[in-house]
Amino acid sequence: MPRDYYEVLGVPRDAGPDTLKKAYRRLAHQSHPDKNPGDAGAEARFKEASEAYSVLSDAEKRSAYDRFGHEGLAGQGGDPFQGFTDLFNEVFGGGDLFGRGRRRATGQRGADLRYDLEIDFEVAALGGKQSIRIPKHKACADCDGRGGERELCDRCGGHGQIFLQQGFFRVSRTCDRCRGSGQSLRRVCDGCRGDGRVETVQSMSVRIPAGVDTGIRLRLTGEGEAGYDGGPPGDLYVVLFVREHPIFQRDGPDLHCELPISIAQASLGAEIEVPTLEGKEKVQIRAGAQSGDEIRLRGRGLERLNGGGRGDLIVDVFVEVPTRLSQEQRQLLERFAEISGEEVTPRRRGFLDKVRDLLD
Ligand SMILES: [Zn+2]
Ligand SMILES: [Zn+2]
Repeated sequence: MPRDYYEVLGVPRDAGPDTLKKAYRRLAHQSHPDKNPGDAGAEARFKEASEAYSVLSDAEKRSAYDRFGHEGLAGQGGDPFQGFTDLFNEVFGGGDLFGRGRRRATGQRGADLRYDLEIDFEVAALGGKQSIRIPKHKACADCDGRGGERELCDRCGGHGQIFLQQGFFRVSRTCDRCRGSGQSLRRVCDGCRGDGRVETVQSMSVRIPAGVDTGIRLRLTGEGEAGYDGGPPGDLYVVLFVREHPIFQRDGPDLHCELPISIAQASLGAEIEVPTLEGKEKVQIRAGAQSGDEIRLRGRGLERLNGGGRGDLIVDVFVEVPTRLSQEQRQLLERFAEISGEEVTPRRRGFLDKVRDLLD
């Protein structure tokens, strides 16, 4: 039996979407096949976590699972690894609990897959390519996805239906030998044991458009699970998670970067190097710069997803007052205060005026 999905993700049964997502991200991160090449245990844990998350993050599937356990999910399709669905069909003869139509009907489309991909901030900003490895089912090469040599079903003669005469009425029911497909296997393929599909780990390269953000889904048509009996493959959805940048914060297409400067640089003005996505660049700090000043580097932000060029890089100036002074610095500042005397700066004047108005 598969493990309990809540247990797999290590979350309580009333876990909300955020808790689920967090738990899944953590597990997927640890056991990702890319991080653990050749480690079958990690791959199994990755699959298990993906399967648990795909069910629990889908309200309909989750409620079916809560009520009926793993059997409640049979026939729902869409789960990345359908081992338990196959088991269900074996045990219950392909019956369908929810009336969603037969599984394994001839030419059934393969399931869609989801792959969570973490990318660097720079790749999200400027675009790029990422290699990924996807565990999935592909059509068996030995039998061309047919599961073996086929022949017309000898019970229904290939109709898929069996007709019965009941009094005046002729009624039909689905053939129980071929489950409606009209065909049966004469020889089961050794490569796939009749499934028509085999598990594989496919390497591929994904193009990341510039300007993407966390949560964006890229759809790769036809890269999902192989279909059954010649059915088309499902799609692959790559869900992006952008790593945080140590320096830049994102605000839509704009980037922010905090620049701490000393009181001397603020007072006297300075030329300072700041980081950009493309490397260092010099900016001028005006004499008399204040905390909260913004220096805008046009077109040095992120690419806008739907065209329209790049946003800006905004350097947020922050004047840092020293917390420790050497003897000499202290003497110089005391001298500075002495020379300045009662000289009042513009903002201090405003403040003093307001205090006077309030207290007089
Ligand atoms: Zn039949
Ligand atoms: Zn085969």
